[in-house]
Amino acid sequence: MFNTNLVYLKKIYFMKTCKKCNIEKDLNQFAKTNQRKLGVDNICRLCRNILQIEYRRKTNNIATKKYEKTKRGFLTRLYRNMVSRISGVQKAKYHLYKGKTILDKTLFYEWALNNETFHLLFNEYEKQNYDRKLAPSVDRIDSEGGYFIGNMEFVTHSENSRRGAIKKKLIYESTKEI
Ligand SMILES: [Zn+2]
Repeated sequence: MFNTNLVYLKKIYFMKTCKKCNIEKDLNQFAKTNQRKLGVDNICRLCRNILQIEYRRKTNNIATKKYEKTKRGFLTRLYRNMVSRISGVQKAKYHLYKGKTILDKTLFYEWALNNETFHLLFNEYEKQNYDRKLAPSVDRIDSEGGYFIGNMEFVTHSENSRRGAIKKKLIYESTKEI
């Protein structure tokens, strides 16, 4: 009798059901807070941690997206993509980029930020609510060469794809002639 009472008391005073996972847990599994009746959070520590990780991931993504809408942030991503093509992180079309050179990041920013076409294209891209087809893209004038000043020009993303398709066709036709 005494024992069951104790179990009952323990249930009232030391146990609590988490509002998130619905598991009954010991009170010390809940963070202390003075905003609640029992003086503890209504969500267990484990669930609270998961929520916090999800929240951070979400806000970080929003921050990244916001940053990539600035010229500086956009160029950061553009450069990162160029590097991953050359280094083979991006497996698609790696044969086209393998062993090509790439200019230094600081030099790239300087070149891009002083490039009139970049500003014109970016402003239009911004005005058209970041339509991917209009995103400024770096085309290599000589596709045999790497990314260096004198071999790069800004075109829209769709123009770059169009040029890529033409080059592919030309390569295909020249192999047919041989
Ligand atoms: Zn929980």
